[in-house]
Amino acid sequence: MNSVDIEPPQTAEDQKPPQTAEDQKSLKMNVAAYLISVCAVALPGAAYGIASYAPEIEKVAGLTSDSEDFINDSLHNSVLDKKAWFDCDAVFLKTPEGTRYGYTTVVEFPVIGKVTIMHMPQQLCDAIVDYSRSGDKSNFTDIQHSAIETAVHEAEHIQRDELSTRPDEARVTCAQIQTMPLFAQELGATLAEADQLQRQSIGRYLLGKPARFQSLECKDGGLYDLNKDQPGNFPH
Ligand SMILES: [Zn+2]
Repeated sequence: MNSVDIEPPQTAEDQKPPQTAEDQKSLKMNVAAYLISVCAVALPGAAYGIASYAPEIEKVAGLTSDSEDFINDSLHNSVLDKKAWFDCDAVFLKTPEGTRYGYTTVVEFPVIGKVTIMHMPQQLCDAIVDYSRSGDKSNFTDIQHSAIETAVHEAEHIQRDELSTRPDEARVTCAQIQTMPLFAQELGATLAEADQLQRQSIGRYLLGKPARFQSLECKDGGLYDLNKDQPGNFPH
């Protein structure tokens, strides 16, 4: 049951392939480091199926275990109660259109064991840490917003078992919009600041998401309302 979930990259800047020979060299060197890092997060007794890592995906450097620990703790304290680990790194995906790099997240299924590994680009992990450290969280940046959105979106893929090759993106995105404030508050936001972050996501949701990310059931009392039994609580 191997699968990858590829989110659309959000800016052209983040689709650039590595530019230099040095980049290429560090890319190769760090594949080995990656295998070690995967083993390092394995729970006792759990075996990881490295083979499940799609062969066309390569790993680059950038592990900062402090930010990883912080993000994993924050997600597990707010929106995620399943076994999963967010790995701060970057991935290169070789697609028919060329090598893609950036806001791309890959879900990896271990062949044996129950832990899902989520790869999140280092710059997104850094942005989440930056947000948590910022004093005035009503002044969040675009990358901070995208990073929080991405982390919660991928967490909801895990949480709702939407990990097939054809996940219900509308269901996942609707859940993500509803639970983002919980994660933001875990990062230190006030309720008002968390709402502000959520409003920006709702605005973007209504404006520009591809059709498969949207649903008429994403509404108060709708199929994707996480609090259907409490009318009036759906964010608007
Ligand atoms: Zn998704």
